[in-house]
Amino acid sequence: MTEQIVHWADGSPLTGSPTGWADVTNPATGQVTGRVALASEADATHVIGAASRAAKGWGTTSLARRTQVVFAFRELLNARKEELAAIITAEHGKVHSDAMGEIARGLEVVEFACGISHLLKGGHSEEASTGVDVHSKRVPLGVVGIISPFNFPAMVPMWFFPVAIAAGNAVVLKPSEKDPSAANWLAALWQEAGLPDGVFNVLHGDKTAVDALLTSPEVQAISFVGSTPIAEYVYETASRHGKRVQALGGAKNHMVVLPDADLDLAADSAVNAGYGSAGERCMAISVLVAVDPIGDELVARIADRTRTLLIGDGGRSATGEGKEADMGPLVTRAHRDRVSSFIDSGEAAGAKVVVDGRDVAARGAEQGFWLGPTLFDDVTPEMDIYREEIFGPVLSVVRVGSYDEAVALVNANQYGNGTAVFTNDGGAARRFEADVEVGMIGVNVPVPVPVAYYSFGGWKRSLFGDTHAHGTEGVHFFTRGKVVTTRWIDPANRPEGGLELGFPRND
Ligand code: NAD
Repeated sequence: MTEQIVHWADGSPLTGSPTGWADVTNPATGQVTGRVALASEADATHVIGAASRAAKGWGTTSLARRTQVVFAFRELLNARKEELAAIITAEHGKVHSDAMGEIARGLEVVEFACGISHLLKGGHSEEASTGVDVHSKRVPLGVVGIISPFNFPAMVPMWFFPVAIAAGNAVVLKPSEKDPSAANWLAALWQEAGLPDGVFNVLHGDKTAVDALLTSPEVQAISFVGSTPIAEYVYETASRHGKRVQALGGAKNHMVVLPDADLDLAADSAVNAGYGSAGERCMAISVLVAVDPIGDELVARIADRTRTLLIGDGGRSATGEGKEADMGPLVTRAHRDRVSSFIDSGEAAGAKVVVDGRDVAARGAEQGFWLGPTLFDDVTPEMDIYREEIFGPVLSVVRVGSYDEAVALVNANQYGNGTAVFTNDGGAARRFEADVEVGMIGVNVPVPVPVAYYSFGGWKRSLFGDTHAHGTEGVHFFTRGKVVTTRWIDPANRPEGGLELGFPRND
């Protein structure tokens, strides 16, 4: 039986009047497990209206009460994360441990948001001018829209909504139509945590739902994560409609391995970061830059490790002996076929296929969207497999002659999300950190996703807008500032009045 997945507004499920229904599949079996409602404009108006009505009351609720609700949400999520992980695996395909990892990183942001009363403290200057005090505060925006991609159905929304809600806003989340159920589970959890109805809403759908959020006068801000062409469209459209926007886009992350690096650490890291979550991570390593003369040795070590990976249903033991698969299927058949066609194109362009993922026959599940890990050597920057974001388990090795060539390659790329350097030379690492035009940098760390109290975001075509997610930038994004200049008359020391039309002076 297929489940119907509908919107969530005002604390209840809402079917509305959908323009259609999209199939939701289990990528490991290829079976349709649900149908998600695609919102009409009227549905979007209804859901945004629910948020709008709730925003004022929530924004003026005490910090103490808001913190209690966020803390209760944290406790419930921590206690019931296995349920959420199972939902993620069933619709996304990532293995259970990876789904749990995604939730753990989302929980970090919820924990960060529990400190909102500290984060919202303003400044105060007594006697800024004679008899005049000044204080600043940050107030919520109202209704904010979050539009998220398929690859982290729980973590990416959690980069934003804990901070947005703690700061006093009402949220409309538009999740990916490929794995929509996590959003509804999170909505029900918020209700259980005591969040007033209408503060957290879910609007399912496609471009119609997104466009409604981008253009509605009731929505004050948009946080988007997805592919670069859509991020650019979202940024331009929502900005034109007077909203503040942070739109995080695609990536092509390079891992540079210098000749003095620990090659076992580098090989382990390349495999983990290249093939974890089947490469469907915006912080995945998709290009390994081997600086001469270590190329042959490094490729051999990566290939040996890659051949040992177990591919299988993330919700089941891969071997029947309790060992979990290392890598699950890709999210949809169309995406698997697209990634597979990139492997064909790389081979045709002359790259060397060292490990071929097209050979993979998944254990006992012929119908799923399977593709094994693929390792290319001798990739050059003009090839499609280098230029395009593949978003699958495909790792391309580019060989360069020097550190300078490696840095030039990283900086010439259109994306600037993440990068890593592997070296035992602190001076080289320090120079790399300064030289690369990338938002998030790892030193002997291949997936340098910042902890929640720092901010997440890339440079260049990986981010449109100027504010990164979570951390203090997230708090800033979901609030706006007011500065109040105050004079109270001291009856015992009344200042001289009189008219003075000159520009106000401070003295
Ligand atoms: P996507 O761009 O196809 O979809 C993202 C969201 O936009 C979804 O909610 C989708 O419904 C909506 N959307 C899709 N087409 C639209 C259109 N024409 N008009 C309006 N809305 C539209 O991305 P995806 O395939 O779900 O996710 C993968 C992409 O997300 C990759 O490019 C990946 O790099 C990127 N990503 C980036 C980050 C980051 O932090 N920079 C994090 C995760 C994923």
